Amino acid sequence: MISQQIQTITKQFPEHVQLVAVSKTHPPHVITEAYNCGVRMFGENKAQELVSKYNELPKDIQWHFIGHLQRNKVKYIAPFVSLIHGVDSYKLLSTIHKEAQKNNRIIPCLLQFHIAQESTKFGLHKDEAHELITLCRKNELNHVSIQGVMGMATYTDNTNQIREEFASLRKTFTHLKTTYFKDKPEFKHISMGMSQDYKIAIEEGSTLIRIGSTIFGERDYT
Ligand SMILES: *Cc1c(COP(=O)(O)O)cnc(C)c1O
Repeated sequence: MISQQIQTITKQFPEHVQLVAVSKTHPPHVITEAYNCGVRMFGENKAQELVSKYNELPKDIQWHFIGHLQRNKVKYIAPFVSLIHGVDSYKLLSTIHKEAQKNNRIIPCLLQFHIAQESTKFGLHKDEAHELITLCRKNELNHVSIQGVMGMATYTDNTNQIREEFASLRKTFTHLKTTYFKDKPEFKHISMGMSQDYKIAIEEGSTLIRIGSTIFGERDYT
């Protein structure tokens, strides 16, 4: 089942697109099944759950933190996390910098933007990003590496709306790239697209697709 789903999804991917298999709530043996199909990037949104899976599973897995990250949880994941998708404040970025420094690492991060209509979804507004990047440079947060943007579209059947929201994230990416990251090849990621909307996301320029339920089935939160 899992291997078939992974194949079906990834065979439609253009070369610049990578899969982040969102394994939150699923036990290690399920992750192993995806790992055995060649998947190496997994996404989790709870620090404790991520740490215990990191300890239990193969060390060549690249663990992505994809949800809202509380500052007091950064220290648990700082030793090993590969990419933090949800940076939406300078304070959080500064905490990641400090914890990365303690671990003698540079932690790759994406800036999360608010692109959906729902007010519940986290993320920066466009004007806030300029302030964040300016402060980051002024204060020399050299243990974080800003590598792109991330966003979640509105949960809706209206594909035009989803497409517009993804297009706006891509525009934000391009604007930041030309304004601040022209000479930074590592600033290259647009993390957008989930089970419901990843095909639209690919058409709108996504480079990292975060897919959970289509691969692993529905999550059981009970
Ligand atoms: C859970 C989650 C996903 C995966 O969602 P699916 O609909 O199961 O594919 C992707 N991104 C984020 C930020 C998530 O929290």
